[in-house]
Amino acid sequence: MKIDILTIHPQLLQSPFEHSILKRAIDKNLVDVKLWDIRKFSTHKQKSVDDYAFGGGAGMVMMIEPIDNCLQEVKKENQPDEVIYLTPDGEVLSQKLANHLSTLKHIVMICGHYKGVDQRVRDNFVTREVSIGDYVLSGGELAAAVLSDAIIRLIPGVLSDETSALTDSFQDDLLAPPVYTRPMEYKGLKVPEVLFCGDHKKIEEWRHQQSLERTKKLRPHLTKE
Ligand code: SAM
Repeated sequence: MKIDILTIHPQLLQSPFEHSILKRAIDKNLVDVKLWDIRKFSTHKQKSVDDYAFGGGAGMVMMIEPIDNCLQEVKKENQPDEVIYLTPDGEVLSQKLANHLSTLKHIVMICGHYKGVDQRVRDNFVTREVSIGDYVLSGGELAAAVLSDAIIRLIPGVLSDETSALTDSFQDDLLAPPVYTRPMEYKGLKVPEVLFCGDHKKIEEWRHQQSLERTKKLRPHLTKE
């Protein structure tokens, strides 16, 4: 998979891809992530990327031209399956959406700033709009990092134990069950006995029951009963 991220602050996005699972995925060539600096595609003398909103009002707007120029360059390498604009009014990111996006070959993400991007970018270049939740961030970079992480960890071969993504919360509309590790007892706090019984069927039944109870309590809308 290839992910191209268009941003005016590429430095903000370096660290998330330089550590842990995302770094491993890149090192194993399972994903190629490229950060594009929109400012480099500005034809203005000062390399400006924003301007005042037509009609007045507070806040600057990201101009269409540098984004269009940058997108054209990206598309020279490959035609993307999706051009995603990160925006608070987009479709709220879910596991289902992450699952779908993880099956694609080439995704472009556009990070906004200020009041957002000129609407003509959204109307003409963007194929999907995604929000990471009903709150407003200063810029799209952290949202792009969240979306990239949610997608990349699902690519086959990225997680060392591939089944672990399948047993995470929201797959099958259930929250994950509680997990424990050594020591068996810590300051009087014990691990449930069932986990030591050696009967895998019984353990799986217990885990499923715990998942159901957790889901009913914490995300009741996911349970159909
Ligand atoms: N004026 C916009 C509004 O009210 O919907 C908010 C703009 S916000 C300050 C600047 C940029 O941050 C947006 O263009 C978007 O790229 C990003 N952003 C902010 N909140 C986000 C969220 N919840 N999900 C995804 N992107 C977000």
